Amino acid sequence: MAIIIGIDALDPEYAQAFNCKNLMQAHFGKTDISGFSEPRTVVLWSSFLAGKNLEKEILALGDREMWNFSLKPEQTFLAKFPKRIVVDVPGFAYSKEQHLLERSQLKKFFSKEISVEEFDRPILEYHRGIKQRFLQDLEKDFDLLFYYFNAADVIGHVSFGNKAKMRLIYNDLDELAGRAAAKQHKMLILSDHGMKAVGNFGDHASGYGFWSTSFEAGLHRPKITSLRSFIEKEML
Ligand SMILES: [Zn+2]
Repeated sequence: MAIIIGIDALDPEYAQAFNCKNLMQAHFGKTDISGFSEPRTVVLWSSFLAGKNLEKEILALGDREMWNFSLKPEQTFLAKFPKRIVVDVPGFAYSKEQHLLERSQLKKFFSKEISVEEFDRPILEYHRGIKQRFLQDLEKDFDLLFYYFNAADVIGHVSFGNKAKMRLIYNDLDELAGRAAAKQHKMLILSDHGMKAVGNFGDHASGYGFWSTSFEAGLHRPKITSLRSFIEKEML
């Protein structure tokens, strides 16, 4: 049994600053995403799943269509795990409805139609729902449990410079990782890219993401596209 927790825009600097031991697990480091022209969420998660750089292919779809991109299990490492639960992962099983809501929330916030509290509310509500499902699914029998959480990214876009708030988000994710770690399955925690503060706001950081494993993996600074073969070798 294996677990992958995908956390969008989890930044290693904050994970360390906020002492998130469960997110950092026994082994951790940065991934290498320097092969990508920009740190785009759907491109990175899709490329992780497929084990190859899909940037060109996905960008050719255009900005709007990009989020509809969806891989078949046979194109990914998921096919190796017959009994799998995969929830919300961009490029495979993303909730389009929620994504559209987030885009419209961002637009409203940056045009000053809504306050930061009004921005956060539906994002946190969605996060709590997914977390609850994750905790229930942890109790099930599976080959692979792969959940994706995006609150650190979405909340980060409007509040990454607000350390007190980001600490709460990271602590919540850390608690969730701790509950998963207690199951003692092989676990990989992965983020697609880092985040950097721009005043109170936040922007995707280039060049690196974050990984951690519950087991010795010898990963050092892996390319995100090399993790597919790693998972097929070490986590099956
Ligand atoms: Zn992202």
